Amino acid sequence: MANIIHLLPDNIANQIAAGEVIQRPASAVKELLENSVDAGATEVKLFITDAGKALVQVIDNGKGMSEADAKMCFERHATSKIKNIDDLFSIKTMGFRGEALASIAAVAQVELKSKRAEDSLGTFVEIENSAVIKQEACAFQVGTSISMKNLFFNVPARRNFLKSNAAEMRHIVDEFIRVAMAFPNVFFSLTSNGQEVFHLEAGSLKQRIVQILGTQYNAKLVSVNEETDYMNIYGFVGKPETARKTRGDQYFFVNNRFIKSAYLNHAVNAAFNEMIAKDSFPSYVLYIDLDPSQVDINVHPTKQEIKFEDEKIIYAFVQAAVKHSLAQFSIAPSLDFTLNAEIQGLDAVSKPFTTDKKDAAVSSSLYKTFTQKNQAHFIEPSHSSELKHWKSFFDGNSNQSAEESIGANYATPKQQSITPNYQSKTLSIIPDTSLLQLHHTYIIASTNNGFILVHQQLAHERILYDRYSLAAHGQQMPTQQSLFPVELDLSGADAALLHDLLPDLLAIGYQLIPSGNNRFVIQGIPADILAGNEKHAIELLIEQFKHFSSDIKFSKREKLVRCMSRQQAIKTGQALTQKEMLVLVEELFSCSSPNVTPTGSPTYLEFKEDYLDRMFGR
Ligand code: ADP
Ligand code: MG
Repeated sequence: MANIIHLLPDNIANQIAAGEVIQRPASAVKELLENSVDAGATEVKLFITDAGKALVQVIDNGKGMSEADAKMCFERHATSKIKNIDDLFSIKTMGFRGEALASIAAVAQVELKSKRAEDSLGTFVEIENSAVIKQEACAFQVGTSISMKNLFFNVPARRNFLKSNAAEMRHIVDEFIRVAMAFPNVFFSLTSNGQEVFHLEAGSLKQRIVQILGTQYNAKLVSVNEETDYMNIYGFVGKPETARKTRGDQYFFVNNRFIKSAYLNHAVNAAFNEMIAKDSFPSYVLYIDLDPSQVDINVHPTKQEIKFEDEKIIYAFVQAAVKHSLAQFSIAPSLDFTLNAEIQGLDAVSKPFTTDKKDAAVSSSLYKTFTQKNQAHFIEPSHSSELKHWKSFFDGNSNQSAEESIGANYATPKQQSITPNYQSKTLSIIPDTSLLQLHHTYIIASTNNGFILVHQQLAHERILYDRYSLAAHGQQMPTQQSLFPVELDLSGADAALLHDLLPDLLAIGYQLIPSGNNRFVIQGIPADILAGNEKHAIELLIEQFKHFSSDIKFSKREKLVRCMSRQQAIKTGQALTQKEMLVLVEELFSCSSPNVTPTGSPTYLEFKEDYLDRMFGR
């Protein structure tokens, strides 16, 4: 019998291999744009005809190619970017596989023009089915132009798989944006069927992002910037109000490479915490730079996933960096800044990377955010933000009338920009002056230079949160023993849940003893809770906890603490005595972050004397 195995001809092998790299016009766009960037271009122009089905052309002013290279670049595994396997671990270019141009040449008609600065004439090369059909000298400016025509002209089955022009164009724009965002110092343009769709002048990162995402983002970006020995994170996150119902403007770049990472996305979401609605997505454009040896980019060329040497650290850094910047811009309640306990405990997070790097690391701000006693929420004092709003309010050039402005702002206390910053140095309550309760909701207290309006329920929620958190993390709360222990009968599921919570409940002062058959005996309750309705309190707690429990971003303890503090807080409508008001206000200001509740609502508003004077035109 004859042997049946034979080698495939080059052009067929190339066509098959090309399927991996060039799946649609957008794949070629990405590869060509990246090649231009790798070639050091400062100007890159993309021309598209018929959603790339007829033409994808990229013209750059990069370093160009020699006559021999202009032909060589279309060979499979032809690359100038790596020489040996070790180079793989220090990749600084976007490409390195030497597959893109070979793939494009296998499935399209290609024309290349290129010239280097040192050559007087450029080279023109025409390729079809992986074969050079024409090569000649030509006049050309320094740089390279590559045209890919009639994609899949020789693989009709694949051409049929292309989507509508609108869909393919969408993919092209996505790829264009990703490259353009990664290199703001390079000019990019995109022209489709003769019409210029993008014209992106080289500029700052913020300019580039606003150019791409739209000017509505201009005042709505908060910058993120943390540097450590291990990695740098920079970029922008959109203020909470830019969150969208669809997963739209979310971009992560690692060493300038666009990546998709559900894991890192989760880290950002977690940093936004409860500042945005559950079903909406924050916008962000974040760049992570780290030693290339810490990243495995040697995954599939068209995959946007990435493997990190240590994912958990990256997660923690991303989360902390975003939280930190939201806090610095007074957008986030600072108390939310405790890191997930699991991550906090990691050596890599709680200790500097190596002892010899310790000094450098200790001085980096991100390291501090991790180590100042769990205070990833450490906030550098901001001097300007407090006054900003009031300034524009009083400035004659504000468009709003004073009335509108007051109305608008006080009607939406969630708007964080008006939350006064608490500064312990400047704010102190005047002792021995009487406090005033308004509508059984607000407490007015005189301060050394004005007065504050405290929301009794929100303030108490903050106080309890701090107290329970402390208890949950070690300082057990005193328990008062019940004289007449109450029995609690639960459903099987609730009993199982409560079982799980027993140790945490004990930490905050609830002593519950299981007595079989889904029954518990309440032996003791936290010392500062009025005895009498403990049964109801526990049932309510279980209910709220269930509500919360799909929320994976909080630990069990954190959820419990949040439920408890909300549940036990004095409600509005309750009359308070002078003594009670005084204790409440004093306790509020001994909290770590007196100005906000754990979920970000302001607890009080401050009215300073000079504001008041100016309001009365004095
Ligand atoms: P890779 O980018 O992985 O090296 P490619 O197939 O994309 O592989 O490109 C092959 C080679 O062709 C590159 O290594 C580079 O030397 C050269 N090249 C490609 N595009 C350009 C360009 N626009 N300007 C200059 N050289 C280029
Ligand atoms: Mg390449």
